[in-house]
Formats: sequence, C-alpha cells, structure tokens
Amino acid sequence: SSENKEKEPVIEEVAEETKPMLDYSNIKSSKDIDVPPLLIDQVIGHEESIETIKKAAKQRRNVLLIGDPGVGKSMLAKGMAQILPHETLQDVLIYPNAEDSNHPLIRTVPAGEGKKIVQATKASSKGYEEKKNLLTMFAIGAVIVIGFMYGRLLESIIACALILLISIQLKPRNTTLSPKLLVNNEDKRFAPFMDATGAHAGALLGDVRHDPYQSGGLGTPAHERVEAGMIHKANRGVLYIDEIGTMSMKTQQELLSAMQEKQYAITGQSENSSGAMVRSQAAPCDFVLVASGNIQVLEGMHIAMRSRIRGYGYEVFMKDSMDDTEENREKLVQFVAQEVKNDGRIPHFAPDALDEIILEAKRRSGKQNALTLRLRELGGLVRSSGDVAIEHGADLVTAEHVLEAKKFSRTLEQQIADRSIIQRKEYSMVNAEGGKVGMVNGLAVLGDRSGIVSPIAAEAAPSLSKNGGKIIATGKLGEIAQESVQNVSALIKKYTDKDISDYDIHVQFIQTYDGVEGDSASVSIAAAVISAVEDIPIDQTVALTGSLNVRGDVMPIGGATAKIEAAAESGLKKVLIPKSNLKDVMIEKKYEDMIEIIPTETLSDVLENILINSTEKDNLLSKMSALKNKVSDTVSSS
Ligand code: ADP
Repeated sequence: SSENKEKEPVIEEVAEETKPMLDYSNIKSSKDIDVPPLLIDQVIGHEESIETIKKAAKQRRNVLLIGDPGVGKSMLAKGMAQILPHETLQDVLIYPNAEDSNHPLIRTVPAGEGKKIVQATKASSKGYEEKKNLLTMFAIGAVIVIGFMYGRLLESIIACALILLISIQLKPRNTTLSPKLLVNNEDKRFAPFMDATGAHAGALLGDVRHDPYQSGGLGTPAHERVEAGMIHKANRGVLYIDEIGTMSMKTQQELLSAMQEKQYAITGQSENSSGAMVRSQAAPCDFVLVASGNIQVLEGMHIAMRSRIRGYGYEVFMKDSMDDTEENREKLVQFVAQEVKNDGRIPHFAPDALDEIILEAKRRSGKQNALTLRLRELGGLVRSSGDVAIEHGADLVTAEHVLEAKKFSRTLEQQIADRSIIQRKEYSMVNAEGGKVGMVNGLAVLGDRSGIVSPIAAEAAPSLSKNGGKIIATGKLGEIAQESVQNVSALIKKYTDKDISDYDIHVQFIQTYDGVEGDSASVSIAAAVISAVEDIPIDQTVALTGSLNVRGDVMPIGGATAKIEAAAESGLKKVLIPKSNLKDVMIEKKYEDMIEIIPTETLSDVLENILINSTEKDNLLSKMSALKNKVSDTVSSS
C-alpha cells in the first residue's frame, strides 16, 4: 500500500504550481531587488562553496572547483579575485642587457610607475632624435655651401651622403636602453583576474617573438620581443583555468614549477624561432590558481598539480541544484535582477514572469523539490524573454513573454526532437490500434533535456548455425547499448522457456540520432526481444523507458520529465517509467490529461503493461512469477 501512496505526490506537485511561487507583495518587479556590489555575493546557491572560497582567498590558497558547466565556477573565481587580501600591485618592466643581449633584465616597480618610466625614456630619446636631425641637416647644408664656394660639387655630394649614413647609423643610446612595459597594473582597483582557459603555452607562460633579422643586428632588440604570459599578468591575483585536464602535461608541468617558484623566466615557445635563444630574467608570477572542470577533468590533470592543490588549497564540489525553499526562490529572483542589470538592454521582470522563471528552474532541476543551478542556461532564457518583451514594446517582462521565449529559444537538440515528434505523431495515429510483434516505443533524451520517442524493433529467427544463435544489434548503437543488449540476453534466457541460443535475434534502433545514450533503452530492448521470441504483440499506444539490471529489476534513468512529455506530444496514451523516477516527474500541466504514467519495478511489471492481452501473455507472466518465487526462495533459504 505504501507503493500506491507514492504515486500521489506527482499530482500534488503540479497542483501546487498554480499558486504564485513567492509572495511578491513588497516588490513591483525585479527592479526593486538590490544587486550586491561584490561578485561573490551575486553567486547564488553555493553557500558552502562560497565559504571555502572566502577562506581560500584570505590565505591565498589554490582552489579546485568541480561541477557542471554553467553553475558559476568562473564567476566564483572572479569573485575571489575581488576579495583577495589587499596587496600592492606591481608593474613589470623588461630592460635590455648590455652584457648578454639574449638575457634581458626584469625590474618590478609599484603599479602605475611602469608607464611613467617608459614615457620618460621615450620623451628623452625623442629629444635626442630631434637634435640629431637638426644637426644632420645643418651639416649637409654647410657642406653644400662650401662645395659651391670652392667648385667641388662632386666631393660635397659624396660628403653629404657620408653624413647621412653616419646619422642613420647613430642610434640614440637611450632608445636601446628604454624598457618595455611587460605587465601594467595602472588604475587596477582589484587584484587581477586572468582567465587562461584554453590558452596555449605561449599565452599562458609568456613568449618571445621571432625576429627574422636577428643575425644582421638590424632587428628588434630581444627585450622588446618578450611578451608576458597570463601567469605574469595574474601576479598577486587569480589565474583561472577551466578544463585544466585538457592542457598538455608539459604545460601543466611548467605551470606547476611557476606556482612553486612564484617567478618564471620567459623564453620563446617555438623551438625553431630566434625567440627560443632569448631567455629573460625570471619575472614574478605569484598567483592563486583556481582550476575547474567536471569530474572527468581529474583524469587529465597532472598528479603533482592535484596534490599541490590538495596540499596548499581546497577542493570544492559544486552542486547542480538547490533545495526548493522560499529563500532559494528569492535568490532566483535576485539572479534575474542581476542578469537584467548585467545585460543592460532588457526590461525588468514582473512577478508573474519571475514565477515562470522559478517554475522553469524547478523543471530543469529534473528533481522534485529542487531548483536548477545551471544558471548560465537559465540566464539565456532571461535574456530571450527580455528580447521578446522589447519586441512587444513592453516595459516589463511578463509571463507570456517568458512562455513565448521558451518556444523560440529552443536548443538544436530540442528542435530536432520537435521535428521527430511531429513525425511520430503521424505514425502513432496510424498505428494506434492493436499491437505489433517485436516493436516498442522506447524513449530517449537528446542533448540535455529534449525527449524523443525512439522506436526499437526486434526480430527472432531460428538460427542456422550449429554453434547457436546470436544477438545482432544494428543501427547506431552506442557502446552502452551493445552492453545492455548483452545483459538483456541473459535475462531473456531466464524468463522465456525457449532456448534463446536457438535463435538469431536482430535488434534495431529505428531512427537514431547522435548523442542518444542507450542505457535507458535496456527495458525497451528486453520487451521487444521477448515479444519477438514469444510472438506476443506489443501495445503501440504505450511508451517505455528504464534500465534493467541483470536480475530483471527496473533501475532509474535520467530525463524522466522530458521523456514523458515527448511521449504525450507524440500522441501515445501510456508511459512506463521506473518507479524510482516518480519523484523526478514534473511534466507541464497540459500533459497531465494526455498521458497515463505507470511506474514499474520489474520486467514482469513492464510486460504486464505493454503486451497485448492474450493467453500467451498470461502463460508467460505466470511462468515468470513462478520463476521469481523460486529465485526468492533460494535466496531466503540460503
Ligand atoms: P561555469 O564557469 O561554471 O561554466 P560561469 O561562472 O561562467 O559558469 O556562469 C556563466 C554565467 O551564468 C554567469 O556569468 C552568471 O551570469 C550565471 N551564473 C551561473 N551560475 C551562477 C550562480 N550560481 N549564481 C548567479 N549567477 C550564475
């Protein structure tokens, strides 16, 4: 009976959504919400992570942020730079080295001084240049006059040419001495924040440009060809690297040594260039590293780098959703206010529009009583809703605008899913009646959250091979799907009294798309194959999803809501989902009357609901339950 109770919350949940999501009595729109000035206070939903970041900032520790894309990792890193303890920032200058021109010298000065020094030397060399030109012209004039006076024209022309040559060759001494400003921190209010995501070695560690004329001494002096890397620009600030695992091991190694030494000499990064001969004195790079990525990023991460962060910093796991509480709903309202303010072009949100955003955050979390924290994407919806409002000439975004934006700003995957749903609908109109052997309406998710009906066909034919039959899976089956076909074959052996090895069984995903994962299709594959082997037709008005384990239990899958909505859109009448997914169901109201949701726990539950009634079906199910009792007997007696 406790099983029956669990079906209830789905309906209650939806009913609740007709009430306003929050009490908006003291605001007219998101305009009345204050946006905090510091970035770290604008990050919502990550209270614990923020505490850690604050602690790390105080002690200038490195941080590893692990989490899904768009949950605010780079925002946190940027926010950390703003709250680093105040240290005087520095400018870095590079000077030529008279003793060894390939080893330019580094000098640090307080921020703002660097520019002044460079300007001062430029000004004095400009004065020298002017004097030199004046002198040259005077000398040439004098020689010509003397040449005329004494009738020595040819000699005077030669003398002029000589004077000119000498003048060109005479480089002002302080031009070659004038430094180059490598790192400029003039007018910086906060510690620097450098996003080095995807930066190649040269951009990250600094580089020396190639000089095609270097052998003739005519080219650009070495120190002027030196370029600072992001590690140098991040000195006394934050260096942020997303997807650090994709960076080459060599670069990670160099980065690590820069972190340890807190200074790093700049050299040319391409081996064949003249830049590789140049190596500057070490330039300061005392940064805090904030590395980030999803959990897989750890695989590509240099072991010593990870242990450095562990030893001298913090590892933080960031959530992808937060509890659906009043407080967190209010934070989402703050988020909308922030996004509107940052965009600067769209109007603020009226209460009913804020409600729609909260509802969407709820839906996108994929869980009951949770709100998504994938806020980059939700920010996209905020902006496109704003665009719609502007198109309508409205001065506030309303619920209608949000709903319209949801329709227009569909991802590629959603658009492909939409098209496939239209086709499915036509098909299911035709095939709604009666059953079909070996044919099921599986459900899959395209991209993040677009459901599609993905039909699966199975055929069983007596095998001609003496070595027994085999399972052949065609169509674009991913590795996971291959595996689930194999798992299922063991189950089928157990659940049907036909010896499966007498058959060749073909399984085909009809219409598949790239990016469709096969794991959640194992229930569908099992149903199709059993229908084919037993020759019992499948009800074509039913869709199903679920993952089977080797014991025949139906395990939870992802994207339940999107799948159910796709089934309803496609005109199907019932949908079987794993019972453990019931709590994730948050379908839009309009689908509630369109489709019946049936929770399943075992393969028998699935067959019970999907096979067309017949004596063959009854026989199969009673055989299965006998088998199951036998199994549980042996389990309990052992
Ligand atoms: P990530 O680095 O995790 O991919 P970002 O920090 O780049 O995500 O987030 C992109 C944008 O999404 C931010 O600039 C901000 O507008 C919004 N955003 C993401 N997460 C949050 C959050 N937790 N709080 C407020 N805004 C957020």
